[in-house]
Amino acid sequence: MDQTSLFAPDSPSPAYICPFDQACSYLDAAAKELKLAQGVSEILSHPRKVVTVSIPVKRDNGEIQVLAGHRVQHSDILGPYKGGIRFHPAVTLREVSALAMLMTWKCALLGIPYGGAKGGIAINPKSYSISELERISRRYISELIKDIGPSVDIPAPDMGTSAREMAWMMDTYSVNMGHAVPGVVTGKPLSIGGSLGREMATGRGVMIIVREALADRGKSLSGTRIAIQGFGNVGGAAAELLHQAGAKIIAVSTGLGGVFAENGLDISELKAYARENNRKISGFPQAKLITNPELLTLPCDVLIPAALENQITQENVNQIQANLIVEAANGPVTLEANLSLEARGVTVLPDILSNAGGVVVSYLEWVQGLSYLFWDEERVNGEMESLMVQAYRKVMHQSQTRKISPRLAAYVLGVGRVAQALNDRGLYP
Ligand code: GLU
Repeated sequence: MDQTSLFAPDSPSPAYICPFDQACSYLDAAAKELKLAQGVSEILSHPRKVVTVSIPVKRDNGEIQVLAGHRVQHSDILGPYKGGIRFHPAVTLREVSALAMLMTWKCALLGIPYGGAKGGIAINPKSYSISELERISRRYISELIKDIGPSVDIPAPDMGTSAREMAWMMDTYSVNMGHAVPGVVTGKPLSIGGSLGREMATGRGVMIIVREALADRGKSLSGTRIAIQGFGNVGGAAAELLHQAGAKIIAVSTGLGGVFAENGLDISELKAYARENNRKISGFPQAKLITNPELLTLPCDVLIPAALENQITQENVNQIQANLIVEAANGPVTLEANLSLEARGVTVLPDILSNAGGVVVSYLEWVQGLSYLFWDEERVNGEMESLMVQAYRKVMHQSQTRKISPRLAAYVLGVGRVAQALNDRGLYP
């Protein structure tokens, strides 16, 4: 068996930080602040259902490979399970379990009627052909067919997946049901019931949160110096929208490294350059090469980690110079690093708030599909913006009145809403 197998070890290096333990620590802190009864936090610290399936896939050379696919359904107390499916080499069951829990708090915080889930397969999608990816996506969904559905569990894109994979998944589910079921996934292509605005939604949500946080400090986006780790679906969209709004994007990066320009990068030119150069940004004229670790420690006003987990850790936290960090990735700041930043007065706006734009527009896509009425992009963006701004204000209000960090405040709101629903629904039997 290779590293993609079901029993792959979770701990590739001694510096490993267990994402599920981290997620539970945040839950514990919120439970303590809310004075939740022991039984309530006990229930919420366990996923309701954990599914791992084997996915036999025929490679283009005729070889058969068996991959492990996970889907973790953390909570459906507030509505159907909701969350993305990632194709990434770092996927493990613990990571997916942690991310499923984050989805529960994210949906609750934003006030959308979903629970939380996440799925994933530990592959590097770049090592597979398009037809292999199609076979993997279809077999994964067919193995999970009894566990998903438009009122049960609604997958969406995440790292390494996009509208293309959602279309294959929707088709596989529909063929098995005998009729088209567009509501089984969100983030679909427009041709089969996707929503305008979905592709840029997570990045747009990040831009809104940065704008609101600056406004609270009496500043505007115009001229604000921002460094963004990541230039994919989230980082790339955030960079574009922030640049359009007048911010100076001084650095962005991909997994291979980044580029830096003291006076700001022209993001539309950089995007065109990346398109022409097979997604490489390193040779972009008028910009200096920098590494990912260097990008994080640049002097700037706002730092947006929009790539992987555990990027700001005990190792580099003292070198961070930004005094506002907006988490566009899930879990880019570790628990300890977060405490050090708080102690230094650095504001960290947490993932469950800052990157919620994607799931909010997924919700709007699902609502449009259920009502058979499709909206223009302005309406979609407007509805999303109003939910994001409301959530931001609630988090800041909670943070100020309870004298707690915005992260803990966001958890208090998300966990509190789920705990209230759990209490009202009662325990069966
Ligand atoms: N994968 C995105 C997230 O982590 C979107 C999930 C969704 O749209 O359901 O929030």
